[in-house]
Amino acid sequence: MSTNARHHGHDACMEACDVRYETESDGGGLFPHACVRDGQAEFLEDARMCISQRTHLLAHAPTGLGKTAVALTAALETALEENARVLFLTSRQSQHAIAVETSRAIWRKHRIGVVDLIAREDMCLAERDTPPCREGRACFFAHARCGQAAEVLLEYPLHVQEATRTCLRERACPYTSAIMAARSADLVIGDYNHAFSRDPSLADRLGLPAKDVILVIDEAHNLPARVMENFSASLDRQRIEAAVSCPPLHHFRDDLIILRDAWDEALKTGGQMEPEALDGPLKRSVGVDCGGLAEEIGETLRRKGEQGHQELISFLSAWGDHGMVRYADGSPARLHARLVDPSEVCRNIFSRVRSSLVMSGTLHPPSMFADIMGVEGAICREYPSPFPSENRLVLTWGGITSRFRMRNEAFFRNTAARLAQVCRSVPGNVAAFFPSYDMLERTREHLRAPGRTVVAERRGFGKNEQDALVEALARSGDTLLLATLGGALYEGVDFRNNSLSAVVVVGLPLPPPSRENLAYREHLERRFGPRRGELYSTTYPALIKVLQAAGRAIRSERDRAAIILMDDRYQLPGVRAALPADLNTERVRDIEAALGPFFKGE
Ligand code: SF4
Repeated sequence: MSTNARHHGHDACMEACDVRYETESDGGGLFPHACVRDGQAEFLEDARMCISQRTHLLAHAPTGLGKTAVALTAALETALEENARVLFLTSRQSQHAIAVETSRAIWRKHRIGVVDLIAREDMCLAERDTPPCREGRACFFAHARCGQAAEVLLEYPLHVQEATRTCLRERACPYTSAIMAARSADLVIGDYNHAFSRDPSLADRLGLPAKDVILVIDEAHNLPARVMENFSASLDRQRIEAAVSCPPLHHFRDDLIILRDAWDEALKTGGQMEPEALDGPLKRSVGVDCGGLAEEIGETLRRKGEQGHQELISFLSAWGDHGMVRYADGSPARLHARLVDPSEVCRNIFSRVRSSLVMSGTLHPPSMFADIMGVEGAICREYPSPFPSENRLVLTWGGITSRFRMRNEAFFRNTAARLAQVCRSVPGNVAAFFPSYDMLERTREHLRAPGRTVVAERRGFGKNEQDALVEALARSGDTLLLATLGGALYEGVDFRNNSLSAVVVVGLPLPPPSRENLAYREHLERRFGPRRGELYSTTYPALIKVLQAAGRAIRSERDRAAIILMDDRYQLPGVRAALPADLNTERVRDIEAALGPFFKGE
């Protein structure tokens, strides 16, 4: 191995060589476990090959495949050999824990520096809501001891809560210390926003050339939506008025009045708008477009140490970007600039980094994500579930549909009666997932499930409620859980110890009709043709939600569960063909006759 591997001074023996592995395992190299699971070896080989060959691997890697161990092994082996850094990016803080745990197991084989990074507000020891340093105020913790604390953080992989306590003992700011540590860490665990937002990327802030960065994107099915959200913006008239009357922006008063008048005119026109609707009047009068005005306002506020007007700046920055749809709606009216082409952002990022591993248990199909994000030259792989196929019964139950025009009282009564039927046939907890809260509530009004405790997810369900519910289900055997596809429980929640015996997916959760969704579909149809455009914008996103919900039931090789997809459309050839190849579905008419033998083990 190369002499470039970095060490952190706590193991003299390790410093004497480049990379030394303390024990051998079937996975070899830095692979942290005693043996490689079924299916995992192929994934590990692909990941090592792609990362070492400077390319991108997009992987549909179902639950149980041990994807975090594979990704960190492959990425860190190359990073240590070639003096590169690994950014492991996730969509939620809760996904950091497994990356830290896996990096600890790797650390036992080879000392690596790891930093777990979350938002400044969440790490602040002074005032979490508004860290004083954000406003240029002095802070007791922002002093020279941060450098010393950074060295401590690099000694052993710490969860961010442990790192925060460590910094408190050192009387150092955890956020500043973590950023300092990240400059020489082998692995930084953080949020997607560190690479996929309008803010300067973490690599730029650390002074790392993008060509030395290996990106690992976890739960990557969420990335296109996050990018579209991060690069979209909306604005109401009030925000422009606030800027017009803001003293630090008095130099821009005339420009902002022109913007306000153009905003009023654009609203009268309606429909989809071109950038010229706002850029034209500005360029003619003051010689800058919206993007230029955003830069000048941002620079002026920074120079004067002022905060605020972020919504205005974001909107002006987004307005002229490529891949946007621009329109007005609402009362009071707002103008929207929504990104509908994530490749406008992602293509550039993926082409600059050294290599990447983009993975999820529902990155299905990975080629769609490569297309949508513009990842060029990507290797796309779908790995089968490592769990015994006989432990999962997947039924499509027609004779009902959640199509919008069919959602009447008869539909909700029928859905409730069917759920009661499932409950009679399933020994254990049942979870039913609905496309919306409205459908959940209206079905619940008709629900009669004797002997069942019915619990329902509510809007805004927090982490504590989520944890309490998971614990309650682990202790119960007669619960019927009602939840939504898109809510707090359908993904990222670990229902342990086979605590769900059946999952029912009510309807096919196609994206609701909206101006933005329509624009997204039209854009994809233009890029990829009508057939793929429809699949990419409606069918696959719906099926990814279904797969996420179905995945709540089977978390280990010992779990057994039935998955019931309740809608005529799951039996259509086009929808069946769009499901993963290893999801063997069976049509069913008599649900009790189908479930009985499965749960009796026949
Ligand atoms: S320096 Fe650190 S602890 Fe102090 S206000 Fe800023 S984030 Fe908070």
